[in-house]
Amino acid sequence: MKPGDIISYLEMCTQERVNLQRGMNFHLRGRNSVILMSLRPNSPYSDRVEEDGRILIYEGHDVSKTVDTPIPKIIDQPIKNPGGTLTQNGLFFKAAKEYLEKKREPEFVIVYEKLRAGIWVYNGIFKLIDAWQENTNNRKVFKFKLILSEESIRDKQKQQRKTDLEHNRMIPPEVKLAVWKRDKGRCVKCGSTNNLHFDHIIPFSKGGSSLVADNIQILCARHNISKRDEIG
Ligand SMILES: [Zn+2]
Repeated sequence: MKPGDIISYLEMCTQERVNLQRGMNFHLRGRNSVILMSLRPNSPYSDRVEEDGRILIYEGHDVSKTVDTPIPKIIDQPIKNPGGTLTQNGLFFKAAKEYLEKKREPEFVIVYEKLRAGIWVYNGIFKLIDAWQENTNNRKVFKFKLILSEESIRDKQKQQRKTDLEHNRMIPPEVKLAVWKRDKGRCVKCGSTNNLHFDHIIPFSKGGSSLVADNIQILCARHNISKRDEIG
């Protein structure tokens, strides 16, 4: 998979070999960490993209809604579970702090983004480089800073080539949504709705922007590959 690939929920779960339920998954089943983001207007968390698509600021998660905590949005985001173990917030926070204290390498995190119901985008692999707590609406929330990684975990494992520069920028969610609507969720060349990808019309490596819908289009895998051959 390449960053910018548009996939179904099922394909995402197949890729990670697990039914993804939670937004934050530290060392999912003992493997890579995975986070799910969503910047749709009704999404519960305010994740954001900075620095031309290299940086993702991801918001931590609220306490679960229970009888004791009926309104999670008025309670500090928890670092520990009632039993004393670390929550997902706590696990990611600890990993970021240990990295800052030079006690460990950065945690690699696979990031998927929900485009709309059942439709997801693979955003690539990020490194967790910082974490902090902020006061928002009279409560504490966690913020995690992630930077898009040059290398892919799977490439590293297989000792393969690095991902190409074109994919070294993340397309902001609002741009993805605008392009999805404009191109009606289809390949602009053939109208296919399968194996779609957000394509930079002018590649990032040649000065094209990730930040404007005018430079992004939807292509199917076949037309994405034939375009690559043309560019060489
Ligand atoms: Zn096509």
